[in-house]
Amino acid sequence: MSYTVAVRALCEFTAKQGDLDLRFTPAPSAQEGMAGHAWVAASRGAGYQAEVPLAGWHGDLLVRGRADGYDEGLNRLEEIKTYKGSFDAIPENHRLLHWAQLKVYGALLCAERGLAELELALVYFEIGLQKQTLLKELHTAESLQAFFAQQCERFAAWAAQEAAHRSVRDAALAALRFPHDEFRHGQRQLAESVYRSALAGRCLMAEAPTGIGKTVGTIFPLLKAAPGQQLDKIFFLTAKSSGRALALDAIALIHDSAPTLPLRSLELVARDKACEHPDKACHGESCSLAQGFYDRLPAARSAAVVRRTLDRAVVREVALAHQICPYYLSQELVRWSDVVVGDYNYFFDVSALLYGLTQAQQWQVALLVDEAHNLVERARKMYSAELSHASLRALKQQPGLAPELKRPLERLHRQWLALNKLHPGKYERLDGVPDAWLNALQLAAGAITAFLSEHPTRLDAALQGFYFEALHFAHMAEAFGAHSLCDLSRPPLSSASKLKPASTLSIRNIVPAPFLKERFGAAHCCTLFSATLQPARFYSDLLGLPEDTAWIEVDSPFSAGQLQVKVARRISTRYQHRQASLPAIIELMARQFEAQPGNYLAFFSSHDYLQLVATAFEAEHPQIEVWKQDRRMSEQAQQGFLQRLTPDSQGIAFAVLGGSFSEGIDLPGKRLIGAYIATLGLPQVNPVNEQMRLRLDELLGAGYDYTYTYPGLQKVVQAAGRVIRTVSDAGVLHLMDDRFQRSEVRALLPRWWHIE
Ligand code: SF4
Repeated sequence: MSYTVAVRALCEFTAKQGDLDLRFTPAPSAQEGMAGHAWVAASRGAGYQAEVPLAGWHGDLLVRGRADGYDEGLNRLEEIKTYKGSFDAIPENHRLLHWAQLKVYGALLCAERGLAELELALVYFEIGLQKQTLLKELHTAESLQAFFAQQCERFAAWAAQEAAHRSVRDAALAALRFPHDEFRHGQRQLAESVYRSALAGRCLMAEAPTGIGKTVGTIFPLLKAAPGQQLDKIFFLTAKSSGRALALDAIALIHDSAPTLPLRSLELVARDKACEHPDKACHGESCSLAQGFYDRLPAARSAAVVRRTLDRAVVREVALAHQICPYYLSQELVRWSDVVVGDYNYFFDVSALLYGLTQAQQWQVALLVDEAHNLVERARKMYSAELSHASLRALKQQPGLAPELKRPLERLHRQWLALNKLHPGKYERLDGVPDAWLNALQLAAGAITAFLSEHPTRLDAALQGFYFEALHFAHMAEAFGAHSLCDLSRPPLSSASKLKPASTLSIRNIVPAPFLKERFGAAHCCTLFSATLQPARFYSDLLGLPEDTAWIEVDSPFSAGQLQVKVARRISTRYQHRQASLPAIIELMARQFEAQPGNYLAFFSSHDYLQLVATAFEAEHPQIEVWKQDRRMSEQAQQGFLQRLTPDSQGIAFAVLGGSFSEGIDLPGKRLIGAYIATLGLPQVNPVNEQMRLRLDELLGAGYDYTYTYPGLQKVVQAAGRVIRTVSDAGVLHLMDDRFQRSEVRALLPRWWHIE
């Protein structure tokens, strides 16, 4: 059985040794790396051939890749590595890896061109100084061939096992049966659409109600499609950790129904959750789990892949048994997993691990984007950046600040003062990031880069924090365009404060489409699913989905008879009417509760409004139990809040629309028999939202709806969705605002609702 591997992947597997070392090493950006390669290639003579494709077999193993450059006249093969800062800071085990890659390319070139010997040159190119350092070695074809054979032998056993795994996995997937006796209502429709989109290699948006088993209904058809479409991986991407748990449960269900299925699933968790030594740094001199990481990785990797479901607990267990870091072990295991479950940011963020590997390894991947209505906001955050003048000032005044950083930081401070003078208001939109300020920022970032690479072990959280923010800001400034806004704002200080409010310069992404387009393009197929994806155009415009994206609205398993939907036509929750709205809201809530005692959720647009109503309600109806959401609640406090709603309790839980209790929570049966929604959910009208409205009007011609109406109603429908969770649930929903009568608002509510 043959197996194909890229030169880089082969060498990373066989030639990485020693410690994990993530001490600060400033890395060139992708653009800088490409520019560096081009610079070196341009400096070579006429006979220089750049990007030489090479391939060769060793037994059943096909090894291929592109060598950076070959000079026929000199008979010299080059591998170019760009770096920033000090040449001596490049770790020894990185250099060994670079040599291994070059030697493998050398063996392939000698075999292809019948060369007896070859000069190999590692070209290290410093981006800032544009300086090359060449390390040269002369090798015979024979010695290179021996090295190549040795690497292939080391990889061959693993490759044979991987090829066998894939073949057994694909045969098992072809025979896999749905894990339940039958599909639920709507679940088959969803599963068939996902399967068809995988076959067609297209994107699909699926609006599918809660309760139909969306997770199994999307994973199962992709597993079935995987062998035929030669899918390497399925990435199940979630907005919240609760989504990860649901995906892992669905996979466990599939395993239960097919106990011999050799499917490997991996859960990715954030570093701060997986790290065993949060007080240490990720290198061998500081953390024992980084020491000898690559020496112990092969055994840990072999032990892990036989475990199949590699959730957080299993990865931790395997890692600690082999004394290596669980977080970095999970990153290594991505390569050998069939299904990866992780947060959106692993694929969509600026430097996302799964996207980077997909590109580098040329994987054929399928994406499942869970609760996809969250992706617009999450992606906006990923491609936004802000820097505060206050953090620069604090850094500048920090005792012990390195002398070489004083001038560049002072220069940036002066530019900031000039900016403040020019824009004295509380909020001012700028046409773009001011050139002089940006130039000062880049110089400051460059100085910190040089400083940190000279002092890689120096721990200075404030400096590093500012530096990473500065780099991200500079990166987003380079990509600035109509998709984003730039503004200078001054958050209000408390009235007691004598300080002048410090300004913050922000790049706010409004339309993430230009960034996400290439992410969707890198996947073979993608399904975005949620209970609320209306209107489809809103999501496809903002996310940059391909034109041929398919859309389905899955039939609801619920009937109109299960949910009484009532509109309070005489209540207005507009800001200016809030005080006046209290008597009618309180009367309606109490009347409903007296008629049908049980558990209710009441949603309001803000904590202030919530408090206003709750205080008046408690005063008038002290006999009714009331629970209130606090402004800041820990995860534990949130759990405690939900646990009060039991099948036997009776009371009203006051919550904020769009907060922790308005989506992603499950209160079936008597745990929740009704909801009151005293808001249309519209975001606040403020200068930022108004600028967003104007920009969305310019770009997409639908500023008001895209800024206010659609995001607002999406939250309302999500919150209302808490009431009916199963086909046996029944409940009542009070929409408390006269605007719920409007036809354009009603068009955004679920079709299965019957509004009285
Ligand atoms: S355990 Fe923590 S400190 Fe140690 S290598 Fe892993 S992430 Fe870094």
